Amino acid sequence: MGKIKVTIWNEFVHERDDNPVGEYIRNIYPDGIHEFLKEKLQADDLEIRAVSLNMPDQGLPDEVLNDTDVLMWWGHCAHHLVDDELVARIRFRVLHGMGLIVMHSGHYSKVFRTMMGTACRLRWREVGEKERLWVVDPTHPITQGVPETFTLPHSEMYGERFDIPEDGKILFMSWFEGGNVFRSGVLFQRDYGKIFYFSPGHETYPIYHDENILKVLGNAIRFVNPACGVLPDRITPTPQSHEPITTENPLIEVKTACLHQQKK
Ligand code: ZN
Repeated sequence: MGKIKVTIWNEFVHERDDNPVGEYIRNIYPDGIHEFLKEKLQADDLEIRAVSLNMPDQGLPDEVLNDTDVLMWWGHCAHHLVDDELVARIRFRVLHGMGLIVMHSGHYSKVFRTMMGTACRLRWREVGEKERLWVVDPTHPITQGVPETFTLPHSEMYGERFDIPEDGKILFMSWFEGGNVFRSGVLFQRDYGKIFYFSPGHETYPIYHDENILKVLGNAIRFVNPACGVLPDRITPTPQSHEPITTENPLIEVKTACLHQQKK
């Protein structure tokens, strides 16, 4: 089997900010979250690219997007700069099978909101409180090798209500020190494409350095990867019947009458 082609997209803005916070983030992710994840997630069965908003065609020209099995998305302050035309190309590809993993503040990206069809709002608080995650479905491929519960010493609180569709399968729940709870890992299917949203990943804490978080992302890549590849555009012709149909259409006389009338 060929390798899974993964493209990690990052808006790559906070990591380049010319201020003390930007400097702090660069200590955690020297070349950006996308390059860090590319290095940490690398494996024999994966072929990973790292791209960013400041690249030509916003990092996703056709030759890259159409060569991607699984797209990972990290964005926060530059959602509005992402071209609608690019969002439409991503949507088309997801509906035809491309896997999509949306991370952290990507919940409010055009891509995720388009795929969900809902507002995708949530509560948030950034004071560096503790987050405790719980595996909700220990039988799911995405939760394999992850402890039943684990903590992140510092996290940004994301809390309910989270405006996502009700058909999402909840794989992880989070509790925060301040009392809030959140559906932190949720899986969706849109036509042929699988979409996984995973909330931990605020840029000022070393959350993607955490082995459990990396394990979840690695599992998610393999799970949302389309088993039969991204399919060509779908056509829905009126097919010939596979068995002879002997039942008489009760509408046949009405239809014939209509045809006669049209001809007059
Ligand atoms: Zn954040």
